Amino acid sequence: MTQSIPLVDLKAQYQAIQADIDEAIQRVITNTSFIMGSEVSDFEAAFAEFCGAKHCVGIASGTAALQLVLLALKIGEGDEVITASHTFIAAAEAISNVGAKPVFVEIDPHTYTLDPQAFEAAITPATKAVIPVHIYGQPAAMSEINRIAKAHHIWVVEDAAQAHGATWHDSVVGSRTAGNLADVACFSFYPGKNLGAYGDAGAVTTNNDEIAAQVASLRNHGRTSKYLHDQVGFGERIDALQAAILGAKMPYLADWTATRQRLAARYTELLADCDVVTPVVDPAAQSAWHLYVIRTPHRDEMLADLKSKGIGAGIHYPVPLHLQPAYNDLGYTRGELPITETVADTCLSLPIYPEMSETQQDAVVEAVKAFCEKR
Ligand SMILES: *Cc1c(COP(=O)(O)O)cnc(C)c1O
Repeated sequence: MTQSIPLVDLKAQYQAIQADIDEAIQRVITNTSFIMGSEVSDFEAAFAEFCGAKHCVGIASGTAALQLVLLALKIGEGDEVITASHTFIAAAEAISNVGAKPVFVEIDPHTYTLDPQAFEAAITPATKAVIPVHIYGQPAAMSEINRIAKAHHIWVVEDAAQAHGATWHDSVVGSRTAGNLADVACFSFYPGKNLGAYGDAGAVTTNNDEIAAQVASLRNHGRTSKYLHDQVGFGERIDALQAAILGAKMPYLADWTATRQRLAARYTELLADCDVVTPVVDPAAQSAWHLYVIRTPHRDEMLADLKSKGIGAGIHYPVPLHLQPAYNDLGYTRGELPITETVADTCLSLPIYPEMSETQQDAVVEAVKAFCEKR
């Protein structure tokens, strides 16, 4: 096998929708509408509608979105925020950077999302918020998390950076889309995300008027008008160019998600008789399949083997946050979050992207099976 199958193929996506993207970019340049304006507000309206949320506020990145939301919720020094350790560092950074303390808790051993019981057990009088991460595209157990949070008067902030278009079914309120599953949600449009910009970009979605207004103010220097600032804010607006590119992609997003779901189901079917753990989706969830993650005790060897065959597998994430050098001062030790640590040691992300052909997928499956049989 000499073909090369990347983890994600951004060039193939551009080629498929080149006319739309080129038109959007040219429009921004021709209008010299680089900051805010209708490119930003049009995209915000489209993305709010996609999520079923009342408000969408475009932000310069997903990380900045998380930080501005915590500031809008008045979280800071002396406060604790509970989140998962098995994830990208952004949510924890946001917690630390507003002066609060991240409290890392276990994940469910099957879905890899925040364990509601572990969350409840970690609540103290200092807990102000919980940030469940919709890891790999699968919503966390939101019914349970929202119920616990409400009982303890804790804000729930979705880290939906990997979950554009994912859904969660609640027996009371029915099916809703990520971005509309809690008090407020943060999205990333980092290029490789399910909806990706051509640079950094992010957004906050919420049904809460006050949070939306506060985040909108904070991203734009606390402005009330061009020369008036009623609070100290930040320069964390989404670029109009990125908003235009994202807007051009919006009409395709639902189809891309459906294709990811079809490819994921096909992987699970084809790998059924192979000695690897395939992903488990909660019956209440529909994953957006940002990543298709299998587990094997021979992870590092399988990764090397796939790489040698030109297959761009990856690891998300090899070092859990509670064991990161940056969080040494929190005093966590290895063995403290055993499920998280096992998943980190055994997880392997296989290539998945909407432009992936079944032939490419068959090649990945064949390589995984060949490795398993050889062992
Ligand atoms: C990508 C990502 C972020 C951060 O988004 P940026 O736009 O890169 O700042 C936050 N959380 C998770 C889970 C992510 O995957």
